[in-house]
Amino acid sequence: MARRLDCSRRNSRTVQRQASVLNPPELGADTNNRCCWNRLWFVQDICGIICAVLTWLLVLYAEYVVVFVILLPSPYLYYSAVNFVIFQTLAFLAITSHLRTMFSDPGAVPRGNATKETIQQMGLCDGQVVYKCPKCCCIKPDRAHHCSVCQRCIKKMDHHCPWVNNCVGEKNQKYFVLFTFYIAVISSHAFFLAISHFIMCVNSDWNKCSSKSPPATVILLILLIFEALLFAIFTCVMFGTQVQAIWNDETGIEQLKKESVRWQKRSPWRSLRSVFGRFSLVWFSPFTGPSLNLNKLDGYLHAV
Ligand SMILES: [Zn+2]
Ligand SMILES: [Zn+2]
Repeated sequence: MARRLDCSRRNSRTVQRQASVLNPPELGADTNNRCCWNRLWFVQDICGIICAVLTWLLVLYAEYVVVFVILLPSPYLYYSAVNFVIFQTLAFLAITSHLRTMFSDPGAVPRGNATKETIQQMGLCDGQVVYKCPKCCCIKPDRAHHCSVCQRCIKKMDHHCPWVNNCVGEKNQKYFVLFTFYIAVISSHAFFLAISHFIMCVNSDWNKCSSKSPPATVILLILLIFEALLFAIFTCVMFGTQVQAIWNDETGIEQLKKESVRWQKRSPWRSLRSVFGRFSLVWFSPFTGPSLNLNKLDGYLHAV
């Protein structure tokens, strides 16, 4: 749905004023998809919550086998100590990235702000229109899509991922890419440790290779090898797809729908910087978010 309004000349001051117009105070605090006294974003989708808990349990299982079946009973102290530190660090970064993806607002557009007053206050020029989402009644910015699970329009929505129980969008894509990266690395590490331990146990006739009985050790190791291989492949593909999408400045939905390019495409490097920030070690940290200039009306106004 498009609406055209005439307007007088706009300058930078009016653009600043218009930015606050998109989230008018009369709408009040939006409690949709929020928890912990509105502080955290949380999608109340039972399927997504089950998948997210399953992810934590799978990491916990890998932790148990790697620590108690592989590393602690190993006779090689330095080998155990080094691998223990590497595995724990990666597990911590993977879980932190997961939590940040899950509990971060992916770039939700305020619901119900597409009122006559708001649109009038935006001060559109001749030949400009705004789009309204018929499902959540918001003024829909360019490249935003409505997610039926989150029940919100999400800026630069890539896809809704049940494994993180959230949409992947403008404001949490970095955390999601890091999550796939760290899970891919931790899975490859666990796969290497499990295969090495299995070979060592076979060579030593299962003597002193584990505190568990040989059949229990075999089952635990085979399950870990299967889990690690499956998730290493899955997250490697996901990581590659995400990096390719950022490189081409095109989201997963835009690729899927084969949408015509209406936005000004950024160079691969600028696109990467818009998601991860300036290149530094911070790129690999799930503790810092992307620095977005969110007070812009760019993308809300469309020429006709
Ligand atoms: Zn919507
Ligand atoms: Zn969603």
